[in-house]
Amino acid sequence: MAAVQSSAERPVLAVDLGGTQIRAALITPDLAVHCRRAVPTHDEEGVEAVLARIFGLAAAVRDDAVAEGLPAPAGVGISSPGPLDPWRGVVVAPPNLAGWTNVPIVARVGEALDMPTFLERDTNVAVMCEWRYGAARGARNAIYITVSTGVGGGVIIDGRPLLGADGTAGEVGHITIELDGPRCGCGGIGHVEAIASGTAIARDARAMLADAVDSPLARLAASGEVVDAALVARAAAGGDRACVALLERAFVAIGALCGSLVNLLDPEVIVIGGSIAEHQPRLFEIVRSELERRAFPILLDRVRIEPATLGGDVSLIGALPIVNDRIGDPTYETGSHRPPTAAPQQGATRP
Ligand SMILES: [Zn+2]
Repeated sequence: MAAVQSSAERPVLAVDLGGTQIRAALITPDLAVHCRRAVPTHDEEGVEAVLARIFGLAAAVRDDAVAEGLPAPAGVGISSPGPLDPWRGVVVAPPNLAGWTNVPIVARVGEALDMPTFLERDTNVAVMCEWRYGAARGARNAIYITVSTGVGGGVIIDGRPLLGADGTAGEVGHITIELDGPRCGCGGIGHVEAIASGTAIARDARAMLADAVDSPLARLAASGEVVDAALVARAAAGGDRACVALLERAFVAIGALCGSLVNLLDPEVIVIGGSIAEHQPRLFEIVRSELERRAFPILLDRVRIEPATLGGDVSLIGALPIVNDRIGDPTYETGSHRPPTAAPQQGATRP
């Protein structure tokens, strides 16, 4: 099996760049998170201000680690929203980082900290983490899906992360499941994220409130509560049948997604995490029953549907394989070009 922890793993300095906050920590090969620090991102202050906060935060973690006598990190692993180019180390244009267009974050952080630095999409960092150390450990083919404000994911195929030609492969939340469905945050139509994400659930709940005369949801909303997926879940638990139906439809969409992914990729395991999945065991029941309806019967015996096991720290702990696997790999050296698109393999045939 390919998914074994390398004995050569060294500690890494993990940076998790998010739309709301930047987190950093030293991660040791025993998966412990040391010297944890966080600051608000404040992307509205501009790219340079955010970069300066990343430099300061990472340097502070490194100093804390020295003060605590911890081993020195081998490099920096940055988790960021995509799209991004993991080979050149460039954040391309994430919707939730205002003003970030083609930012060479690896070159900038590497220079500021004088350490080898690597970049990967947050959901790919998460799938690497669950694959190496969590619910997908030991699998050669695994899929990770996060269900929270958005729907994201990552894919491991034949023991390697699936990156695609531009490094953006694995965006399972942007697969169309309704031909004329609602508009997605990405601009597409009928994507899973436009139906099953927390954002979509909140949108549909607000539309229901515009019509409804009285309901548990309407009473909660009238008391000043923010109408989000968590409130819909509370109303559903309180007997609001429209909210139950809204959540079930979202979970069926995740089930349909999983059915398509099983038929397309034949994985051994699909790991589902994110704040909605964490709090909704019903999601797993529905996904399993939808798989029975939608996936090739021969694949059902093999594929496992598992809750994520490493929680909110996947984007920090996942920096361990990102740095250790890529250090010394020339395709990830800053300034190098991405691998050329594979030429047709003349004469190469599968047995
Ligand atoms: Zn989309």
